Amino acid sequence: MALIREKDGRRLHVKSRLMGESLVSKTLLDELETAPQERLFPDINILKIGGQSICDRGAKALPAVIAEIAANKEKCRMLLTTGGGTRSRHIYSIGLELGMPVGIIARFGSTISEQNALLVSTLLGPWGGVKIGHDDLVKLPNYYAQGCIPVTHGMPPYDLFAIPPAKGRIPIHRTDVGTMLLADLTGAKSCIFIKDEKGLYTDDPKKNAKAKFIAEISAQELLERDQDDLIIERPCLEILMHSEVIEKVHIISGLVKGNITKTLRGKQVGAIIYK
Ligand code: ADP
Ligand code: MG
Repeated sequence: MALIREKDGRRLHVKSRLMGESLVSKTLLDELETAPQERLFPDINILKIGGQSICDRGAKALPAVIAEIAANKEKCRMLLTTGGGTRSRHIYSIGLELGMPVGIIARFGSTISEQNALLVSTLLGPWGGVKIGHDDLVKLPNYYAQGCIPVTHGMPPYDLFAIPPAKGRIPIHRTDVGTMLLADLTGAKSCIFIKDEKGLYTDDPKKNAKAKFIAEISAQELLERDQDDLIIERPCLEILMHSEVIEKVHIISGLVKGNITKTLRGKQVGAIIYK
């Protein structure tokens, strides 16, 4: 970038495209040329182990998921994230009842999803499971070089700065969003949500027996459908639509043996939401 000297000849400035801009101007953003986003770690697969859907089932679900992840370790690089689940919901409801602001509720969510990251990494210990913090994400290649399977909490670190939602005080950026943001950050090969249903339906299949399975849909179309309930957090759809590096996400059931392996090999066993 060129250096320019002020008219009085004393001070030097670095001339840049953003110099003197508010960074708010729509015209600026429309016209600004940027290099295509680098894929930091294009060979990694990001897998979210659901909190309510998998971790909370304990011995009934988690060991099989752990075993399948361990079995894929030699062939695939994986970064695991964890949800919070029922314990998050419990502390959310107490916090809401007591008038806690969204930032405190979000912080609760982070600590619970971190408990699950500790649980999952401990179970994966014999195969190199290691719990990492968000600051450690830039060191991923070092973990893989040492044969580790890194596990981090899914909650994005907005914490006390969580954005107040339009309605209520439940943070809208929770562990699905954190996982999606990680996929965008890393330019990951795949982003897989391991839950307890086959995938996306027209409504919550646990509450509506008539809900129909949606095998594939674009994020835009799903947003336009404005469904009452979804299997992933709503802001994930906009993140996917705007991502330069994520083409699609998979939602699969972790209660069916073989689903994780098949998805890592590129087969569709659940639902796909694409950009
Ligand atoms: P996780 O613990 O992985 O975050 P959640 O329990 O938060 O999972 O979300 C998954 C649940 O969402 C499913 O078990 C299902 O009952 C519910 N759900 C709500 N709406 C839908 C939908 N449209 N399609 C599928 N599942 C849905
Ligand atoms: Mg959830």
